[in-house]
Formats: sequence, structure tokens, C-alpha cells
Amino acid sequence: MNAHGASNVDADGEGAGPALKAPAWVRAIAPYVPGKPVEELARELHLDPATIVKLASNENPRGASPKALSAIRAAAGDLTRYPDGSGFALRAALALHHGVGPERIVLGNGSNDVLELVAAAFLTPGDEAVYAQYAFAVYPLATHARGAKGVEVPARDFGHDLGAMLAAITPRTRVVFVANPNNPTGTWVASESIARFVAAVPRDVVVVLDEAYDEYLPEEGRSPSIGWIGRHPNLVVSRTFSKAYGLAALRIGYGVMDPSVAALLDRVRQPFNVNALAQAAAIAALADTAYVEESARMNREGMRQLEHGLAKLGVPVLRSHGNFLLARIGDAATVYQGLLREGVIVRPVAGYGLPEWLRVTIGLPSENERFLDALARVLGRDGNPA
Ligand code: PMP
Repeated sequence: MNAHGASNVDADGEGAGPALKAPAWVRAIAPYVPGKPVEELARELHLDPATIVKLASNENPRGASPKALSAIRAAAGDLTRYPDGSGFALRAALALHHGVGPERIVLGNGSNDVLELVAAAFLTPGDEAVYAQYAFAVYPLATHARGAKGVEVPARDFGHDLGAMLAAITPRTRVVFVANPNNPTGTWVASESIARFVAAVPRDVVVVLDEAYDEYLPEEGRSPSIGWIGRHPNLVVSRTFSKAYGLAALRIGYGVMDPSVAALLDRVRQPFNVNALAQAAAIAALADTAYVEESARMNREGMRQLEHGLAKLGVPVLRSHGNFLLARIGDAATVYQGLLREGVIVRPVAGYGLPEWLRVTIGLPSENERFLDALARVLGRDGNPA
């Protein structure tokens, strides 16, 4: 099965046409499985999409900032022209926001694109990329797509074992990916440890610090890593507008890095990789700091609501620093199906080697309640016979 729910390639990857010669490393890739779309579940179970709760893709349940929405409306007046391929205005806004020069910023079609650009710029067949067990699924995907070898370092308490990751670096290593906080585990490493790690990585190895969930950390936990790039020109920090900024549908993220690294990523970047609506919306969203702060506050409350509700159901969870929670359910595949029948979409993580767990995005209070009620019924812990 591929991401579209269809299989047109057999186990050897030959089904697409015996005459076609995709490299073995491409045929060996297990495609990314996204969260189930609301419309798909509505079609399958003949449900009204408005009644479905989706807590599967770590999206902001409040939606986008109204300021971003009006920027999109204004930008929609001119869809006939290509976007600004250099992203001048957004890069200028981000430069100001982070106190760096705009030549240090590379925009991506989602921060996923930035990860891909790093892989495209630095990895060739035979090279190695190091990442942690249970780390974000795109690291192995981007690595394997270049024919490079992924070196997966066993996790410690579900999180990054930075000492073991350092020890896994060899002369073939070109890139190290670190997600902080990590998805899907929600684990987080304090910046002092990350700083020591970055300083210990050889200078000819790119360190990608993926900070997609940074805005959800409390003020004192926010990452200062962008300030280290001057000292560590091999450091790339990636951020996204998909999570706390609520713009996942537009696909907009960015990386901050040394100008020489940005120049390399620009060589492999599509000329118009970020669309005009995304650029306009991101500028407005960045300026609406109150919206982001309120989203983070609501996330903390929602996190407590889910932690409390799951504890009452006797379901263990991992302490999370993101906008999602990993819950140990037992037979997660069956519970996932049961929740779908209740109109609630969460995320199975068996593909990460976590078959007993489900990942639940923090929703609005009413959505969290829907999930908890549905889970109680599915688990037969609602006081009624299952
Ligand atoms: N990094 C992490 C850790 C993520 O969880 C995600 C989204 N699931 C991304 C990067 C990519 O997000 P986007 O491409 O929407 O910026």
C-alpha cells in the first residue's frame, strides 16, 4: 500500500513496469503513511465530516490566525504570477524575528522540504546519516531516497541518546538529524545537552536540529540554537509554520544556517518551492505572536486534560513536550479501528516500532473529551459492557 491507499508496486518494486529501472534503494523505501484524512473516513463510514474529530497529524486545532487568513485572502487576488522564488519579504521578516541576516534563511515547502534539501545537498550513495530510533520518519526517508545509509541509534527512555549518536559518527557520516522535541515520542533534551552535542560533532558533519515543536515549549525551554550557528557553521536549525502557527495545509517551513550552507541548499531547491499564499500567510502569522502564545497555552491545558483523562482510564502515557501525546494502549491496531468507528482519528505508530502505542494530537477541549469518551467505550471502561 502506498500513501494513496493503493499498491501498484509489488514486493520487489517491479510491478510499475519491468522496463523501468528505479534504483534498489528507492524500491526498498517504505512509503510515509500520513494521518487518515477526515474526508476519507467520512467516505468509508458514511459519516458527516463535521462530526469527525481528527487528532492524527499534530495540527493546531484552533486553525490559522485570523490575520493569516486575511493575508491569504489579499494574496489570492493575484494567483496568476509565480511566487517570489527568493521569498524576499518572508525571509526579511524571519531574519528580523530571529535576529540573523536573511542570507541565513532557506524557505521550504514545509520544514520537511528543508530536511530533503539537506539530504539532497549532502548525501550520496554510500554516505551515512545518523538519527535516533523513534525519531521523525522523514529522516530515514530523505536518507534512503539518496541511496545513503541510515544509521539508527537505539533510543534511551524513548528519547535521543546523544552520547551514542556521537559514537555512531564515522568518516562516512555527512548528516545527523536530531528532533527536539521529537515526534512521535514527545521527548525533549535540554539545550545545554544539545549545545554540548553540537560542539562535539565533527565540523564536516551537518547537524540538523529539527525544532518543529519549539513554540510549544515553555518560555524558559525554547531553543537558543539559532544563536549557535555563528560558532557552528555546520548547524542547520529547522522550524515550521505547520504546528503552532496553524498553517499545515499551506506547506511552509524554513531552515536557519550558515550562508555557505544556505547557498548549497539553494542549488538543489526548486526555484518556486514556496507558494505565494504560504509566503503571505506566514508573514502575517509570524507577526501575530499573541495567537501563537495562546495556542501554546491551550495546548498545555489540553495536554493536562488528556493526561488526566488517560490516567483515569488506566492508560500509561509518555511525558510529551509537543502538541501530541503517546499513549500505551496494548492492542493499538484494534483500538485505532474502534476509534475510527467512533469517528475519532488518531495515529498508529507501529511503523515506528511502537505497536502498542497510539499518538494523539492535543485538540480543542471538546475534541479531547470526544476522544476520551470514545476511548473509554472502545476499551470497555465506560461503565457499560463492551
Ligand atoms: N519535523 C517534525 C519533528 C515533525 O513532526 C514534522 C511534522 N510531522 C515535520 C518536521 C515536518 O512538518 P512540516 O513539513 O509540515 O513543516
